[in-house]
Amino acid sequence: MKIVCLIKQVPRPDAIEFDQETKSLKREGVPLILNPFDARAVAEAVRLRETAGGEVIAMTMGPPQSEEALRGCLGLGADRCIQLSDRVFALADTIGTSRTLALALSKEGSDLVLCGRKALDAETSQVPPEVAAFLDRPHVTSAVGLALEGDRLRVRRETDDGEETVEVPLPAVVSVARAEREPAEVEPGNGRIDVWAADDLVDDVRENDKRFGQTGSPTRVLAVRDVTPERASERADSVEEAAARIRELARERQAGATAWDKPEHLAEEPGAFYDCWTLVEVSEGRATRPSLELLAKGRELSGKLGGSNVALVLGHDVAGAVEDVSRHGADLIHVGEHEALRDYVPERWVAAVRSVVERERPHVLLFPATLRGRDLGPRVAGELEYGMTADCVDLGIDRAGRLIQHKPAYGGNIVSVIMGATTPQLATVRPRMFEPLQPRDTAAEIRPIDLDALPEGTTRISERTATEPRPRRLDEADLVVAVGAGIDPAALAEAAERAGAAIGGDRAACAAGRVPWGAEIGLQGRQVAPHVYLAIETDAGFDHLTGSVKAGVIAAISSDPSSPLLAAADVGLTGDWRELAPALLDALDLTDAP
Ligand SMILES: Cc1cc2nc3c(=O)[nH]c(=O)nc-3n(C[C@H](O)[C@H](O)[C@H](O)COP(=O)(O)OP(=O)(O)OC[C@H]3O[C@@H](n4cnc5c(N)ncnc54)[C@H](O)[C@@H]3O)c2cc1C
Repeated sequence: MKIVCLIKQVPRPDAIEFDQETKSLKREGVPLILNPFDARAVAEAVRLRETAGGEVIAMTMGPPQSEEALRGCLGLGADRCIQLSDRVFALADTIGTSRTLALALSKEGSDLVLCGRKALDAETSQVPPEVAAFLDRPHVTSAVGLALEGDRLRVRRETDDGEETVEVPLPAVVSVARAEREPAEVEPGNGRIDVWAADDLVDDVRENDKRFGQTGSPTRVLAVRDVTPERASERADSVEEAAARIRELARERQAGATAWDKPEHLAEEPGAFYDCWTLVEVSEGRATRPSLELLAKGRELSGKLGGSNVALVLGHDVAGAVEDVSRHGADLIHVGEHEALRDYVPERWVAAVRSVVERERPHVLLFPATLRGRDLGPRVAGELEYGMTADCVDLGIDRAGRLIQHKPAYGGNIVSVIMGATTPQLATVRPRMFEPLQPRDTAAEIRPIDLDALPEGTTRISERTATEPRPRRLDEADLVVAVGAGIDPAALAEAAERAGAAIGGDRAACAAGRVPWGAEIGLQGRQVAPHVYLAIETDAGFDHLTGSVKAGVIAAISSDPSSPLLAAADVGLTGDWRELAPALLDALDLTDAP
C-alpha cells in the first residue's frame, strides 16, 4: 500500500499581523508550522501502514523552507518525502496547486492520497476535491475514521447533519479532519527528501506556463484587508442589564441587508446582461436557510448584472424547496429531480451540476459554504478547471460584470479581495452573511432539467448517524451558545431550547465529549455568525475566538473577573454560569433583532 500525504507548511495563524502602512501581511519572523490537519493525515497513514504494510510518502508544493515541514512528517513516521519546489510554481491558486500536485502524484503513483481537511492559512478546503478531480479518482472530505477493507476504504466522515460512513474503492483521495491518535508535538526526523522542479513533471516547461503558478491559476488575490472587529468589552452587573445591552447592540449591528428591489444594471451602455445563479441545498424537503440567504443576495447581484436571479434546485422530493425559493426571491428556477440524488454521492451530484453548468454556462454560480457545498463546489471547479473562491463573506459586481469576492483567511481577521478570470465564476458563501428576504407570494418561472444519465458512482454510503441537534443548526440559529470543557450543556438544554439557541463548544469541550465534534467552533471547527454568540467559560485563545469573528454581538460568562474571555466580548458577566446562563437565555428575546 503506497499512501501519499499532501502536506503544507503554514504560518502560525495567531502570529500573523497586518501592516497598516503597506496594506499587506507581515510575514517576517512569523513561525512556520506543519498544518495540524496534515499532521493528522500523516498519523492516519502511519496507522494504516501498521496493518497494510507499504510506505508513507509526504509531498508538498512549497518554497525551500517547506523542507522543515517535511522533516516533521518524517518525525511522525513517514518513510520519505517529495518537495515540489520551483519558481514557476509560485502564487498558484487552488486550481494551479491541485494541477501541479496531481502531475506529481501521477508520476509517483499511489493507492491512497491523504490530505488535511483545510490549510489553516488560506482555509479554502478546495485542494483535496480538486486534486481528486485532476486525478479522476473518487474523493471523501472531512474524514474522522479510516479502515482498509481489501481494495476499498471505509471512511467515517462529518456531514452537516452528523456523520456518515462511506466506502470508496482505491485509489482515492481523502481529506482528514481527525485522527484516531492525535499526533503529539511534531519533532523533525531524518530521511530521504527528493526535490522535484517543473521539468521533473513535464517535458516542455515554457515561460509563463499555463499549467503552473500564477499563470496557471484562474483566481487572483487583489488586496488583503484587516477586518478585526472592535468588541465593546463592557461589563454588566446583572442579567437584565446584559440582556438589554446585547439586544441594543444586536439591533445596531445588522447582518448584510437584502431587499426585493433590484438595483440598477451597472454596466455602461450597451452593456452585457447576465444572470446570477444559486445552488439551493435541500434538507428534509425544504430549502436551507443558507440557500435562501444567497438567493436574497442574488437579487442585488442579478440587478447589477442586468439579469435574472436564478435558483438551481437539485435532489429528490424537492417540491417544498421549489416553493421556498419561489417565495424568497428567485425569478427563475431550474429543477432537476432524480431518484439518484436522494443521497449525497459526490460522483452523481458532480455529474448533475456539471451537466447543467456545461449546458447553461451561468455567469455566476454560488454554493452555500456548508460541508456539502465545500465538497461539491470545488470538485466541479476542478473537473472544469474554473476558478473558485472559498467561504466568501461578501460579494459585489464590478462594471464589467465580474464578481468581486471577499474571502476571509488566517481565522477571519484578514479578508482578501479575489476575482476570477474564468466563467462561470464560482464561489462558496459563508452562512449568515445575508438575511433571507421576507417571503412573498410570487410565481417564479419553473424549468425542469432533464437529468437522465447520472452515473451510479463507486462510493457507497453504508451508515448515517444524525446528531441531535444537527450541526447545521449552528449555521441557522440567531443565537449560538458555546461551552467550555467544564460546562455540562445538558444543564442549559431547556433554556437554550426556549431561546431557540444552538449549542456548540470549544475544542476542549469536544475533546471532553461535552458536545459532538461536528459542533466544534473555532479555527479547526466551524466559523459561526449568529446575531448573538454567548461564550460560557470557553477558551479565550485565538483558536476558539476566530470561530465567532463574524458574530453580531459576543456575550461571555466567566467566574473569573480577570478572564480574557470577558475582554474579548462585547458584554461580559461574572459569576456562576449555572445561575447566569439560563437566566440570560430566558431574558434574551431576539425577536426584534434584524
Ligand atoms: C488570503 C488568501 C486567500 C486565498 N483564497 C483562495 C481562493 O478562494 N481560491 C483559490 O483557488 N485560491 C485561493 N488562495 C490560494 C491558495 O491558498 C493556494 O492555492 C494554496 O496553495 C492552497 O489552498 P489552501 O491553502 O486553501 O489549501 P486547502 O485546500 O485548505 O488545503 C487542504 C489540504 O490540501 C493539501 N494542500 C494544500 N496546499 C498544498 C500544497 N501547497 N502542497 C501540498 N498539499 C497541499 C493539504 O493536505 C491541506 O491540508 C488564497 C491565498 C491567500 C493567501
